[in-house]
Amino acid sequence: MRFIVTGGAGFIGSNLCRLLLREGHRVVCIDNFQTGRRENVEELVNTGRFTLVEHDVREPFSIDSPIDGIYNLACPASPPHYQADPIGTIMTSVMGTKNCLDIAHSHNVSMVQASTSEIYGDPAISPQPEGYWGNVNPCGPRSCYNEGKRCAEALCYSYRTTYDTDVKIARLFNVYGPYMDPHDGRVVSNFIVQALSEVPLTIYGSGEQTRSFCYIDDLVRGLYALIQTPSSFQGPVNLGNPTEITVMDLARAVLAKIGGPSRVEHRPLPTDDPHRRKPDITLALDNLPWRPEVSLDEGLDHTIAYFRRVR
Ligand code: NAD
Ligand code: UDP
Repeated sequence: MRFIVTGGAGFIGSNLCRLLLREGHRVVCIDNFQTGRRENVEELVNTGRFTLVEHDVREPFSIDSPIDGIYNLACPASPPHYQADPIGTIMTSVMGTKNCLDIAHSHNVSMVQASTSEIYGDPAISPQPEGYWGNVNPCGPRSCYNEGKRCAEALCYSYRTTYDTDVKIARLFNVYGPYMDPHDGRVVSNFIVQALSEVPLTIYGSGEQTRSFCYIDDLVRGLYALIQTPSSFQGPVNLGNPTEITVMDLARAVLAKIGGPSRVEHRPLPTDDPHRRKPDITLALDNLPWRPEVSLDEGLDHTIAYFRRVR
């Protein structure tokens, strides 16, 4: 089969491209390298089944030869990156998703839309099931991302109701692992790079806020299972690992693994930083041949080994 992966040079996208190639498929990766890196995918060209196209998904595009599915992952995902150009982030979410939906519609193929736990905002309930509508500030530093992604979900829903497009929405929860950009500012990459560099680990706020971290191999298996579901299954569906941990305990875990002289240092908590986050994955477990399998302990070992090589 032949899949389009927008954002395929990024962290999740490059891992997804690898999985699709391992499964014997062809992949067309579309990326403008805003946050992704050529080196994430360069070696994949050698397979002879991987095509890299430099394009900004905010601009319409067409695909001449037949395709079997499209994954829309193009969007900066780390808070410092998506906040650097907030209008651009909104347009990538909205226009990028519309341009992908037009391809899915015209080729009559399935599409998976990478949405996010951020659409729940600072949740008032925990864990968060898909039926929860969220608690989102529409006018704040995170709103370019979470409201952009919410509008993208509304577009997907509207293409489904208007054109019967087979679009499936995946809400991803804090993914980590190899091919993360060591300097993208997210907590797992920051803590590992800081510990390896023997500088203090930066805890924003008290460190009592929680996240639930999903190892990349588990996540891309979930995305692959999702695109194979029947058209009747549209989600939105949470994909993540429900094991919840405080940011402070994550810092302790990283320090315990890497050792060295690093300690923690507190910095101000960013505005609208969610206090807790934990997916309810019942819907995914009931509808996909999938469950998260890699513990945080094992996933951190793989991620630390990767950062030791590339940092
Ligand atoms: P990333 O920044 O590593 O990858 C995003 C990719 O999209 C990059 O290669 C970037 O260059 C590309 N891109 C951005 N804007 C583009 C544009 N206008 N046109 C073409 N390409 C563009 O981020 P990631 O962590 O791999 O996230 C991938 C997707 O998953 C995003 O849509 C993100 O919102 C979603 N997501 C990620 C997480 C996570 O924890 N990593 C959590 C929830 C949702
Ligand atoms: N965080 C932190 N130190 C860092 C980077 C992030 O304490 O160096 C915190 C951040 O404030 C948030 C959590 O870790 O509470 C997860 O942040 P990340 O940017 O990885 O993801 P998101 O906020 O999008 O879940």
